[in-house]
Amino acid sequence: MSVSELASSIVESPTLRLNEEARLLRERGEPVIHLGIGEPKNKTPIPAILSSAAKLSQGDVKYCPSDGLPSLKKAIIRYTEEAYDKVVAPENVIVSSGAKQALFNILYTILNPKDEVVILAPYWVSYPEMVKMVYGVPIVVTPEDGSFHPRMADIERAVSSSTRALIVNSPNNPSGVVYREEFIAQIVDFCERKKIYLIMDDIYHKLVFDGRVAPPCYRFTTKDLEDSRLIVVNGIAKLYGMTGFRIGWCVAPRKIVTVINNVQAQTTSCASPVMQAGAEGALLGLQSVVESLRLTIQNNRDVAMRELSSFNGVKTCKPDGTFYCLPDFRAYSSNSVELSSFLLKRALVVTVPGREFGMEGHLRLSFAGTVKDVTEGIARIKWALDPTSPNDIYIGDKRLIRDWL
Ligand code: PMP
Repeated sequence: MSVSELASSIVESPTLRLNEEARLLRERGEPVIHLGIGEPKNKTPIPAILSSAAKLSQGDVKYCPSDGLPSLKKAIIRYTEEAYDKVVAPENVIVSSGAKQALFNILYTILNPKDEVVILAPYWVSYPEMVKMVYGVPIVVTPEDGSFHPRMADIERAVSSSTRALIVNSPNNPSGVVYREEFIAQIVDFCERKKIYLIMDDIYHKLVFDGRVAPPCYRFTTKDLEDSRLIVVNGIAKLYGMTGFRIGWCVAPRKIVTVINNVQAQTTSCASPVMQAGAEGALLGLQSVVESLRLTIQNNRDVAMRELSSFNGVKTCKPDGTFYCLPDFRAYSSNSVELSSFLLKRALVVTVPGREFGMEGHLRLSFAGTVKDVTEGIARIKWALDPTSPNDIYIGDKRLIRDWL
């Protein structure tokens, strides 16, 4: 069976693969703890359920405008004004089936073959693959060892005459870092001077801790949106825990949105109106659900940090946002893929290898689950790796003895 060279060069999504592995193990009755997936445990907010249900019960679920239900776009405009202090027009907004599709459509819209996109490590796994899918070239900028903050000088060096875009994700998946205000200001200024698109993946922008805020890019430009190169991606998956609704959007200059709309109309026609209605319900409903999720996750972050600090040799940067941390496990192994599968096999804990995010020697741990999962998951990792930890552990009702250290 032949497949295209391009399609066969695209790697499997490691997080979705690990999810499937964990599901199969659980189906076999294994007490797996999932510190892999970035998915909060909360129930769908009631206004989202009611709004989707109302749409469904009308029994009239048909195609809708390819750029999104006008009423959802209105809610997004309101959201953008409240969260970013930025007034945008309906023509600046397009709704897609998840932030993932929004990102793909943007890259498809702005890149010619061989155009380069600068990506900052540690990066979300899908960016390089998406760039390759539209025949672009990902150029990765890696920070100095021990830091998750790329240096502006390195970014400037990575930019060439072929660079079309820079992707910035802050709060950052997988490190939990929130980039500093001066850094965002420098990036906005640099992209504007170089006429490079700045794609801000803001999917975690309200999931920040300890009173911090993720500095919005709009604050650092004096240009009108139509003349700017700023494209902001957002969605309901992370902030409202509505991953399965698959609704995301982007805010961009009208010319870009028009082309994205053509791309989307020819590929998916539109995101499901039932799910769009759910997204509208979430955006217009009580926003205390976001705050309550944020507080739960902040508490989980504190638990994860406490557990990790008792770990000999593991270096951890305290996350300022998201529900991930990216501890450095090089004291135990420099091969994160091997380490992650060892931990799944021996300790029944799912972690994601840092190699997938451009940070070999690290493991991404998600603390989006319950406090019990976070505590027990890290205890199991410690048992499997740290010779100073007790030699036996209970996993489910099985007593396991460590015989490999
Ligand atoms: N960007 C980042 C950085 C993410 O972590 C994710 C989800 N893991 C997405 C985009 C995709 O979001 P959605 O579920 O809305 O497609």
